[in-house]
Amino acid sequence: MKPRNRFEKAVAASNERLTAISDKAEEWAVRNVVKHIAFRTSGHKCTCGDCGERFEHKGKGNVTIRCPHCGHKVEIMDTLKRKWNESNYFSTLEAIDGLQVQRVFLLSATYRKGKPMTTDCGEVCRMWLNAQGKVAVTARKRIMGYYVDSFNWASSIELRNLYDVHWCISDTYIYPRHSLIPELRRNGLKGKLPDNCHLCRLMSALLSDNRIETLMKSGNRRAVAYFVNHLLDLDVCWASYKIATRHHYVPNDYGLWCDTIRLLEKCGKDIRSMKYICPKDLKAEHDHWLHKVNAIEKQRRDKEKLQRAKQYEADFYKSKSCFFGIVISDNDIEISVLDSLEAYKAEGERMKHCVFQCEYYDKTDSIIPSAHDLQGNCIETVEFSLSQGKVIQSRGVCNSNTEYHDRIIKLVNDNAHRFLEARATA
Ligand SMILES: [Zn+2]
Repeated sequence: MKPRNRFEKAVAASNERLTAISDKAEEWAVRNVVKHIAFRTSGHKCTCGDCGERFEHKGKGNVTIRCPHCGHKVEIMDTLKRKWNESNYFSTLEAIDGLQVQRVFLLSATYRKGKPMTTDCGEVCRMWLNAQGKVAVTARKRIMGYYVDSFNWASSIELRNLYDVHWCISDTYIYPRHSLIPELRRNGLKGKLPDNCHLCRLMSALLSDNRIETLMKSGNRRAVAYFVNHLLDLDVCWASYKIATRHHYVPNDYGLWCDTIRLLEKCGKDIRSMKYICPKDLKAEHDHWLHKVNAIEKQRRDKEKLQRAKQYEADFYKSKSCFFGIVISDNDIEISVLDSLEAYKAEGERMKHCVFQCEYYDKTDSIIPSAHDLQGNCIETVEFSLSQGKVIQSRGVCNSNTEYHDRIIKLVNDNAHRFLEARATA
């Protein structure tokens, strides 16, 4: 890929000037980045993967011990294999020509019985940052295949499009002897590097977003780690965060806290008020407002639904009004047809079923009588099919059956002729 702007031109130029990885860095990686093993067969016979020498170890389980020959820490593995491979990514940080670069290497170690281990270290990609936090990548070519992180080792490291795989593999071990551009140190990246977030994302955010700089300088590494991965949350929660921090409030879970702030905002609450943003029991507060938001959302949906239903209202009255006057009753029960969209909605809410949500008012073949007692309390909602001339379902609260179930069905069926006559004369 050809450099398209000044930054990429500078990257391409500096990319040529980087030298091979230092022996010290590679030694460090071999010791710290890959797993070291000892092969163990039956009994206590072990072979050190590092030096290839044999020794006995009495003891059970996959424990880590020191090899008596080379003194390296090795993890015991029960296996009959004679060869074992371990590999992992690691990276170094360098400053060159005013640019920051994170160089990502793939280290693989091969252990063979009877032979000292061999290692192989290859550079895969370089993540470049300028002082404004802009990111570019120079890398080897990817091989398309089953694994996203397959690289063509014969290709050169040159300017390429930045893909997720580059972000993914650069989230790895970092050689502790690093150098940083002065802008990063100025913005708060000092001392031990944070190990709880993606360093390249952090560096980019630190150079381009002064809120991350403020967080970094306040020393709140947990907040830094969360917000670097959720930069959009900062837009919503930054003011609240500052106020909460001023009052020494530190949530134990920043994800949950940011969610709570969003919920408060949706409920129209003041997200600068201590009362709301510094709850003692964060989980309970979160659940409380989630409940509120869900209720608001449901109300909004219902209103929308009713508005949409109004389009059918004219059709509804035209086809159903002939049944409105019909009342079927015995000594305890009175059954009458639902006569407006509002009545459907109220019935659905009262009886906690879907007579409104599923648009029964729009079914041309059905009429919906509702059964209630003489005091007006709802008992069941009935669906009467005009084509079949009988009841096809009758439901109580939450779709359950009541003690009046069979009586209601019989009562409606016995009076079916009244519905059919009403339709015939309409
Ligand atoms: Zn050894």
